[in-house]
Amino acid sequence: MPATAYSVRFARELDVEQLATLMTGVQPTPERDGAELLRMSGDAIRDDIQCSSCGKFGARLVRSARSRASRAVLRQAHFRFVDPNGGDAHHPFCEFYGDDENRSVQGSLLDFGSEKSAETRAVRLLVCKGIEQGIFDQRRIREMRQWFFDLKSASRFTVSMPLEAIPWARALQRHPHYRRWQFHPLQAEMPAFDWKAAAKNQFTEDNLPLFDLLKSIPFDDATWRQASDLARKNHQREVFNATVLQPYYEAAISLCVFVAANGGIDFGKGRPEYFRAKGPPVALLALCALVLFISDWDMNAAIAAFAKLLSAPAPSNLTLGNLIGLNPFHEYAAWRLVVVSAEIAAQSPNGLDYDRQLASTEAALREQHRRWRDEQS
Ligand SMILES: [Zn+2]
Repeated sequence: MPATAYSVRFARELDVEQLATLMTGVQPTPERDGAELLRMSGDAIRDDIQCSSCGKFGARLVRSARSRASRAVLRQAHFRFVDPNGGDAHHPFCEFYGDDENRSVQGSLLDFGSEKSAETRAVRLLVCKGIEQGIFDQRRIREMRQWFFDLKSASRFTVSMPLEAIPWARALQRHPHYRRWQFHPLQAEMPAFDWKAAAKNQFTEDNLPLFDLLKSIPFDDATWRQASDLARKNHQREVFNATVLQPYYEAAISLCVFVAANGGIDFGKGRPEYFRAKGPPVALLALCALVLFISDWDMNAAIAAFAKLLSAPAPSNLTLGNLIGLNPFHEYAAWRLVVVSAEIAAQSPNGLDYDRQLASTEAALREQHRRWRDEQS
């Protein structure tokens, strides 16, 4: 349920009440809400309002609903995108496609206007300055969203690997593969020979190419859990191939790290050098993506724009920051884990069970040792 959508006519992201005020000049009230005020404007709205994510038209207004008893708002007035046959007008890969009224889309929507945290406050100020200084405007933000959407939807990926591929890739990531050691049966003549460690070392040698695929893959548990959920929900389905975003994600992270380290502003979330492993503040990431987008992904042009933003005088109008930003890298990191896990599974000839493979590796080493001993006697 998108609470806001983009108006081409007013060139900004609006909710139903704001749209009603702009179109009718009348302030909505609980008795006459925005959807009621706009009752006669259906055609104009269908041709004007675009989905913030996929850019499709066909918006209809859904009235707000109140409890009869308490008059509390049960549902805000909102937009619903309907195609000429009455079906869902969103692109099938749009995050609002098949959306029921209650599903939360908090993960991808980012309210720059919210004052909740130091990082959003700092970014909000920069958004206001950027709009006042004419560095970007809401039209460019809409263009950026569409660009990201089109890029992702042009590349597809079918989630067809076994679901065990994800815990398998996670186990490989935790495996101490940096330790290299060649086994020889005579080593087991040591009085306290550690067979478990020997099996782990041998496992590394047997699976060496797989560890290369895991280079620069994030470590945090939350992203791996999210990857498992995505794989389960989308199993055997065609989805966006989010990995096409990789060069843009890398560039946006690099800019986040540079801006946080050199901007003289506290963005409030950990040390910049950990952004790559743990994820940067989401509001800063969205702003960096926007500034890179308007700079044609030229890093120094983006840094020049940030220098201008950071030295601009305090904005006179703080409501300019009241726009909902869409994090263009929503679920990117988790999708990347899904894709990498599928690649690893395809290249794993001995199955996807880590514990079982360690056990069989240990058994094979013990057998080698037994035969070697027989030869010695
Ligand atoms: Zn959509």
